[in-house]
Amino acid sequence: MIDFKNLDISTTKECLLKKEFSSLELTKFFIDRIEKSDLNCFITNTFENAIEMAKESDKKISRNREIRDLEGIPIGMKDLFCTKGVRTTAGSKILENFIPFYESTVSNNLINDGAVILGKTNMDEFAMGSANTTSFFGNVINPLKSSEEDTKDLVPGGSSGGSASSVAANLCMAATGSDTGGSIRQPASFCGLVGLKPSYGRCSRFGMIAFASSLDQAGPITKTVKDAALMLQSMSSYDEKDSTSSRKPIPQYLDFLNFDIKGKKIGLPTEYKVEGLNSDIVKVWDDTINLFKKNGAEIVNISLPHTSFALPTYYIIAPAEASANLARYDGVKYGFRENSDDLEDMYELTRAKGFGDEVKRRLMIGTYVLSAGYYDAYYLKALKVRQLISDDFKSAFEKCDVILTPTTPNVAFPIGEKQKDPIEMYLNDVLTVPASLAGLPAISVTAGKNSMNLPIGMQVIGKPFDEISILAAGKLIEEYRGF
Ligand code: GLN
Repeated sequence: MIDFKNLDISTTKECLLKKEFSSLELTKFFIDRIEKSDLNCFITNTFENAIEMAKESDKKISRNREIRDLEGIPIGMKDLFCTKGVRTTAGSKILENFIPFYESTVSNNLINDGAVILGKTNMDEFAMGSANTTSFFGNVINPLKSSEEDTKDLVPGGSSGGSASSVAANLCMAATGSDTGGSIRQPASFCGLVGLKPSYGRCSRFGMIAFASSLDQAGPITKTVKDAALMLQSMSSYDEKDSTSSRKPIPQYLDFLNFDIKGKKIGLPTEYKVEGLNSDIVKVWDDTINLFKKNGAEIVNISLPHTSFALPTYYIIAPAEASANLARYDGVKYGFRENSDDLEDMYELTRAKGFGDEVKRRLMIGTYVLSAGYYDAYYLKALKVRQLISDDFKSAFEKCDVILTPTTPNVAFPIGEKQKDPIEMYLNDVLTVPASLAGLPAISVTAGKNSMNLPIGMQVIGKPFDEISILAAGKLIEEYRGF
């Protein structure tokens, strides 16, 4: 069997078109690897469908007709995207047996573009988490190991941990993720990959199981920046089924390849030098700044004064929206039900048994901040602070073209760590959450490694709908990183 590891999407597509190998061979290679893997990346496999899709792609290629953008490329689908006829769980017991009768727009776009779906990837329950340890289907293991602590398994990050881990372990070529406060960028960073959260509204949320609707955005997790552009091209669309999806024309994302960083202004926010930022990460940040300088970019210091309020604001708004969104899981319409003769009892038992601890914690916070008497003090206040955070970015972008920061304050940590104290877990998102609250596009690209050989990601945040600039900045980092 040919070793298909570490191929990127565009090279693979060229090889497929030249008939150097078939999509069926490629698909079988990944199926075999998934079957042998013990990283717990996939919740549901769709191997039979995948084989059929691969055969269909090979047919199109052999006829040289109607060849689509992602023809025959095997990918993983985060189990947050509803897939018609295929179980979709959002990592929760409450949806353990939920089989949607419709397809999410994002997965539909990918399928229409010829991607071969290998299965549904594991995730934190309802995308709530930063370590993929809250899934009802068990935690996901990061394929990377620290050179010092090689006996301990590391977390892949979350909530798109199954997607990130599966790409890093060569179980698929790319995968979809969703990012509410960092769930694409943080796992991409922990697994040494590229993760792109597009501008809010770029990808349709139709058929994405909702966590916090004003923040949720789909995006790709890939090995390279170019792959991220190719995946994003397919995933993006205006969708009349999602009133928040954008009608802005979608550019050709591969145009980022011709984008010159020279003369561009790179903003460095003073406030991102947060307490507890790991010294190896500070060093890689400095190296990356120098890289931009060397390539003719101008470095400008900027201020985002409300940064320190972003995390508390997020942890009011996201749980508030979650408590409304998850009210639908009552044992009547969807999935799991705990029977009882009494209706109220049935609701309570269903939710008590169907949701895990982290989800319950968020629902309690959410209903609390929305309750009469506390609404003004918490939720309304958080909305106001969110506006200030957004305004900070607006004025910063008058002085710079993109903003460069680390993705996370730390590298991948051992499974079980930060488990007891939820606040410690929430601190993982301190650098990713501000861009989410402001709806801005942001990419994480591996820029270096720490002393224990673990990847360090840098985040580039862009102006609204300027995905091209962040892809271009990401490409520079990717080309010149120090390993
Ligand atoms: N880790 C964050 C949380 O738990 C972000 C999750 C996400 O982006 N879906 O809410």
